[in-house]
Amino acid sequence: MPFVPISQVTLTGGPLFRAQEADRAYLRALEPDRLLAPFLREAGLEPRAASYDDWEVRGLDGHTAGHYLSACSLMVASTGDDVLRFRLEYTVAELARAQDHLGTGYVGGVPRSAELWAEVAAGITESTFRAGRWVPWYNLHKLYAGLIDAARLTGNQVAPDVVLRLATWWEELAVGIDDEHFQLMLETEIGGMNEAYVDLFDLTGDPRHLAMAARFTSTALSGPLSRRSDELTGLHANTRIPQFVGFAALAARSGDPALARAARFAWETILTRRTVAIGGNSVREHFHAIDDFTPMTEDREGPETCNSYNLIKLGRRLSADGSDPAVADALERILFNHLLSSQHPEHGGLVYFTSMRPDHYRVYSSPEHSFWCCVGTGLESHAKHGESLYRFDDDTVSVELFAPSVVRIPELGLELEQRTAFPSDGVVGLTLGLTGPRRFRLRVRVPGWSVPTPEVFLNGAPVTAELERGHLVLDREWSDGDTVSFELTMGGRAEPYPDGSDWTSLLWGPSVLAARGESLPTDVVLAGRAHAPHTAVGPLTLLASAPIVPRSAVPYRDADGRLRVDSDRGPIPLEPFAGLHDARYTVTFPVASTADEDAVARRRTALAEQDRRASSIDGRTVDRVALGEQQPEADHGFEGVASASGAVGGVRWRSTAERLSVTLVDPHLLGRVVRVTWLHDPAGHGFTLEIDGTPVAPREGGRDDDLEWAEYPLTPTSAGWGVRRFALVADLDRETPRCTELRVLTAEGA
Ligand SMILES: [Zn+2]
Repeated sequence: MPFVPISQVTLTGGPLFRAQEADRAYLRALEPDRLLAPFLREAGLEPRAASYDDWEVRGLDGHTAGHYLSACSLMVASTGDDVLRFRLEYTVAELARAQDHLGTGYVGGVPRSAELWAEVAAGITESTFRAGRWVPWYNLHKLYAGLIDAARLTGNQVAPDVVLRLATWWEELAVGIDDEHFQLMLETEIGGMNEAYVDLFDLTGDPRHLAMAARFTSTALSGPLSRRSDELTGLHANTRIPQFVGFAALAARSGDPALARAARFAWETILTRRTVAIGGNSVREHFHAIDDFTPMTEDREGPETCNSYNLIKLGRRLSADGSDPAVADALERILFNHLLSSQHPEHGGLVYFTSMRPDHYRVYSSPEHSFWCCVGTGLESHAKHGESLYRFDDDTVSVELFAPSVVRIPELGLELEQRTAFPSDGVVGLTLGLTGPRRFRLRVRVPGWSVPTPEVFLNGAPVTAELERGHLVLDREWSDGDTVSFELTMGGRAEPYPDGSDWTSLLWGPSVLAARGESLPTDVVLAGRAHAPHTAVGPLTLLASAPIVPRSAVPYRDADGRLRVDSDRGPIPLEPFAGLHDARYTVTFPVASTADEDAVARRRTALAEQDRRASSIDGRTVDRVALGEQQPEADHGFEGVASASGAVGGVRWRSTAERLSVTLVDPHLLGRVVRVTWLHDPAGHGFTLEIDGTPVAPREGGRDDDLEWAEYPLTPTSAGWGVRRFALVADLDRETPRCTELRVLTAEGA
């Protein structure tokens, strides 16, 4: 039973509607001519306005325009917004103009596009998609997807032509690329190119598009997953999840059982072993070890919003033909927690990382200055809240998610209105508007958290409903004005981390609960200026200062109806995390195995020890680059010659036989030490550190288990913003050790 198209669903109130409206205002604040500037530049035309800043001029030039096309298309389909429709048509027309001018079929904002694709045509090598280039296929994928969305959601007449010419350009170029080199290309982040080509097949029926979707499918990734082997630890999460969406899409068309198994297993293993309560996953954009969620608790850079956006796409693909109760519960969890929480309810600013560290905070984007990946996916996310609410086939209408809305099913002459204050409470009322009496089945999803099964009322009187695969079913002849009502029971529960460690999240019905901390001023939480970071770089609160919750504790409502949980410091007030903004928050609480005082004291001592271990370095860190991790390297201007990267036990590394370099930034000129860390190398190691081109001798070194480190003195420069270039230079005839990170640190005790 497929989802009802978004164009037949209208949100009428509640948090999803408010998110949609904030997103609509944000989209309207973006100027198409600025988004289009990279495309015109690459086509040899004069841009009509200056590019935006941030990621739009740092190698991902043009990626936002693709997201913008998708978001405007979704918004037009769901709200009929005429301003955005006009801008969408204008944007597509300008892209067509750029494509015509170039004359090859190509259109894209990727910097030095002509040079890149000439290099690809000449033969892909290890460095083609690396040397100073930031994921061109990821960037182009947004354009493919945006044009496809414009075609299928708004009926735009120009978009299909533009995207098909682009697709043909690539198909012709790719004829000369053998499978081995094609797979080499897939090792960099390519977004959901496999999914895009399946969507093109759906648009055209042309089997060549299905063949290209298969070429864009990474066998290194699909192989282990199809054997139900989770080898994701250490991998960049948002490079992989869109691939999984493509696995599911392609499997549904080609019938490939191995690919279908890979997509399903990826979903299961991420959701059950790698996901925290809000529905998000990964730390610093990478999957960490399944059996150790310590990074999740400690790091500023918790779940990335893009991952959850893409997981929703995967869940929808996996349940495209019918509702799977577990998938529906997961979609609800991600949507009503991670995604809703990642958008500011007033200015619509979007969040990149949602730290799970107790008492940390998030940073929100601004339309003028922030062009992160999570801005792009966020613009789409909040434009499509109507897409998973209802399903329909010949004789069944199914209510899948709860939100005030109207769904129109012309085949039944039905207009169904849903009224609810969900997720504030679980009372839901449905009113059926019918052109005449009609027999069909009305199904209502019963979420996994709603126990016992709710009683259903038809026109105010109790009625028996069959329970079928997580849904209550009423099969009868309906009349205009019939009403159905029920109440989903909400209660409190605790949910430990998947690794079974002594940390827990607290939920009430569908909502993850948070303890509110200190309110933060706008200049701290809003990236409202050029180059403002997307990470919440402010001070960390010690873990040992978090309230400790007894293992048996669950949230409850006190006599005044307020949500609370007991802790060693007495009851703590809680509130739904999705509505908590501009403040520090705690969504993960340390637990003590029993409520006796000794256990609590031991737990606090352990937390203090954890703080001591982490703060000795982390507390002093001004900037840090994790080597071998794609996003941190891109953020730090990584360049490498004869360089390799990999992972050992979830730790990413990078080495070079010649030279690699990165930029670290010390905006307040506080750095006094540079620390280089590498995996212990029994064969010894050789490298020289250069700072701004000058070799520097180490001051100190040491070894902690498998990691070795050396510290170098750093003299402050007189230049503001302290932008420093660090290079690791290999000794003659000898590769450097496998380096894991570079950090700029303050002086000890500073
Ligand atoms: Zn992102």
